[in-house]
Amino acid sequence: MLDKIDQFQKEFLQELEGVKNRGEINELRVKYLGRKGVIKSLLKQLPSLTVEEKRRLGGKINQLKKLVEKKLAEQEEKLNQEQPLTSQGEFLPHWPSQFGRLHPIEWMRQRVLNIFHHLGFVEFKGPHIENDWFNFAGLNIPPGHPARDLWDTLYLNQNDKKGNPLLLRTHTSNIQLRALEKYGVPLRVMAFDRCFRREILDPRHSHTFSQFEVLVVDKGINMNHLKWLSDYFLKEILGQVTESRFRPKYYPFVEPGVGVDAKCVFCNGKGCPICSYSGWFEIAGAGMVHPQVLKNAGIDPNEYSGFAWGFGPDRMLMLMTGVNDIRQFYQGDFQFLKGGR
Ligand SMILES: [Zn+2]
Repeated sequence: MLDKIDQFQKEFLQELEGVKNRGEINELRVKYLGRKGVIKSLLKQLPSLTVEEKRRLGGKINQLKKLVEKKLAEQEEKLNQEQPLTSQGEFLPHWPSQFGRLHPIEWMRQRVLNIFHHLGFVEFKGPHIENDWFNFAGLNIPPGHPARDLWDTLYLNQNDKKGNPLLLRTHTSNIQLRALEKYGVPLRVMAFDRCFRREILDPRHSHTFSQFEVLVVDKGINMNHLKWLSDYFLKEILGQVTESRFRPKYYPFVEPGVGVDAKCVFCNGKGCPICSYSGWFEIAGAGMVHPQVLKNAGIDPNEYSGFAWGFGPDRMLMLMTGVNDIRQFYQGDFQFLKGGR
């Protein structure tokens, strides 16, 4: 009987080597470990033996059983690594595997915040429903100021406790006075969040959109810092081949104000269809914080200066990914989010 056990062990190891899939592993398991399997049939013969033989052979059979269990488990693990269950699909119904992924805007948010986090910026959250002071008047845009026409604003039909009209914030700049009031100076904050405007919807305009903005206020801050930061960020996000260019631009809460262009990364500034043959993309808006805004936050503009810098992540994403309709970022279309469209 001892020979028989050795023989079974040899056979098992040979058969195991020829195994190619989980079905065959299962067959072996049934053959050796099943209710009518090899091990059970060996054990059945034990009662007819002497006590001494029982002990010796019983131990031997047990060793064989342990070996079979261990080798089958190892082989199964090996197959799992070589052929994941979902692709082999022998025992599972054929459901396609689906992995979650970050929404493009969230992907962008994490990327941008990370870049500025390394420069010492802290995220600051402002409310989506804002009052007129923080969104407009406090930022040097008093009621009736023609600059208000730059923003098509969605007003709520009510005022806050102090009688300020409530509205859906039109930009992330509503964090400026809030952050200065909360933390004082020196200050280095950033915001990446949703803003809202009354837009006629088209592929380039959505009533809901994202903005990113940073605000720096300290002693001795000047345009050089603004230029350095623009270059640094654009190279980090678009690649080292780009660089920034400033154009004069008007925003009521900065003086001077600039439009920030990035050199086209597709043609290296030579001009191509993607950059409308200009060699540059209009990316960001920025400028030195207007002295009146600092005064509104109770800060002496003779002692402190600062800059604000912001851009539209949606537009940047469109540029980077080739998505040609901004509304797709806000519609929750599953096909689009899976990358199928
Ligand atoms: Zn180009």
